[in-house]
Amino acid sequence: MVGYARTSMEYFFNFEKIAYLKGKRPEGCILCLIRDHSDLVQDLTVYSQDGFSVSLNLYPYNPGHLIVFPHRHCTDLREFHIDEQLALHKTLSLALSVLDQEYHPSGYNIGCNMGLNAGASIEHIHYHIIPRYPREIGIAELFAGKRVLVEHPLDSMERLQRAFAEKAEETANQP
Ligand SMILES: [Zn+2]
Repeated sequence: MVGYARTSMEYFFNFEKIAYLKGKRPEGCILCLIRDHSDLVQDLTVYSQDGFSVSLNLYPYNPGHLIVFPHRHCTDLREFHIDEQLALHKTLSLALSVLDQEYHPSGYNIGCNMGLNAGASIEHIHYHIIPRYPREIGIAELFAGKRVLVEHPLDSMERLQRAFAEKAEETANQP
């Protein structure tokens, strides 16, 4: 029997289902292929600036589930230069502002899985931003694979691209 604590941990960290692949798993890194606009992967990028991209997760845990990743193929956050650390923080903050505006969640889980045993299915480091809502379905249903998508990520793509562009401009114009 799986205890409650373990189940909770899995809920928070077992969200590595980033299937951007259009067909067979191609050679090379999926996030590098997305960065390079390869035909082999589904491009769900909503924002790209300062060496980082923000992408929708094709199989979101919740509406608005985003992935933030560096253009440089890093596998450990300690590889980031100081300018990349700043750019990452800026990109995460921008993403939160956009999600606040577009989805009005009541909270967020933000984190990355480093290493296969931590649940990382893609070596290229990426941060998940998972909006949390007051009335989410139960953990049991989630594990039973019965999670229902309220909004397909492809439908939210254009709306988010616009929101990111507007919010980035707004932020840049702030004193
Ligand atoms: Zn890569």
